[in-house]
Amino acid sequence: MHKITLILGDGIGPEVAEAARRCVDATGVQIDWDVQDSGAKVSEKDGDPLPARVLDSIRKNKVALKAPVTTPLGEGFRSVNVRLRQELDLFACVRPCRTLHGLKNAVEGVDIVIFRENTEDLYAGIEYTAGSDDTKKLIEFIGDTKGKKIRSDSAVSIKPISKYASERIVESAFYFAESNNRKKVTGVTKSNIMKESDGLFMYVAKEVAKRHKIPYDHVLVDALCMKLVQNPLQFDVLVLPNLYGDIVSDLCAGLTGGLGIAPGANIGDEYAVFEAVHGSAPDIAGKGLANPTAMVLSAAMMLNHIGEINAGKKLESAVEEVISEGKKLTCDLNPTSPVKTNEMTAEIIRKIR
Ligand code: ATP
Repeated sequence: MHKITLILGDGIGPEVAEAARRCVDATGVQIDWDVQDSGAKVSEKDGDPLPARVLDSIRKNKVALKAPVTTPLGEGFRSVNVRLRQELDLFACVRPCRTLHGLKNAVEGVDIVIFRENTEDLYAGIEYTAGSDDTKKLIEFIGDTKGKKIRSDSAVSIKPISKYASERIVESAFYFAESNNRKKVTGVTKSNIMKESDGLFMYVAKEVAKRHKIPYDHVLVDALCMKLVQNPLQFDVLVLPNLYGDIVSDLCAGLTGGLGIAPGANIGDEYAVFEAVHGSAPDIAGKGLANPTAMVLSAAMMLNHIGEINAGKKLESAVEEVISEGKKLTCDLNPTSPVKTNEMTAEIIRKIR
């Protein structure tokens, strides 16, 4: 019996969490789900969208399946997703982007795995409010040390990139590439402009690549976006700092059929949290319109992670079969004759053998 934290989230979170849970249970793997609430409603009650009990549960169980959580807008709330990744040191965000056979709105043959650094960069949460005393001091300091003038009404965000964090994400990408017979690793930065932060990431990636046999190249992030749209089949494993990883993940999700089918994992040395690339999609919440696939495929990644490889494969094959048949799909994949979340989930469960 595996004990796993299930975070319900909000928006479409509870709907897709329930779908994934039903699919995992249908594989026959014995799981004792430790169900945890988080997000906007919890924040109204407890004053924090990510209360300590959620983190404690993951620390105890080591593995979580997490539905999307909305970060309340406004001052004082940092993204729940970012906090989780930083507090549990889930340094590698792994996002496989593979076209499932039969999808009409996808580029055939894409098979890219994204390794996004998860703990630093502009996501580190070091931000200075426009007009505050600290911001004034920072602007003065920058003027004194760099001779650069920043307008006094500016807000400022800091972008830290360390050798340590760059090295461990690039090592993870190479380890994955080698253990899964991938062809190439590509490092992605904007090192021609951010010569220090991105320059360091690029330098470290090149050094790590020397320790491995698998081919390595480097592409600037703007060129990568163009090349991905023109010919995504030339890419294999991509390793990127946090912000570019976020943006390129959505681009790749778009190439392979949209956010509704893009799974992901956040992995550290001690803990792992599996979650879809998409957010809580408040526009379609509570209507039964959400595509459960991204969350179900994230659950399949989770099954692999806990050693239930067979069950993970069964679940993936079931999803692929439902998609290639093209009959029971939610409206993001089949706008002309869509089915509801529950029906697509039931169809996936029917195909689990
Ligand atoms: P958040 O603020 O939590 O990131 P968001 O609405 O800004 O939420 P996403 O939730 O990532 O961003 O989704 C963007 C859009 O993609 C949604 O508005 C929705 O229309 C669509 N979408 C996302 N996930 C799904 C899904 N599982 N099924 C169908 N459509 C989806």
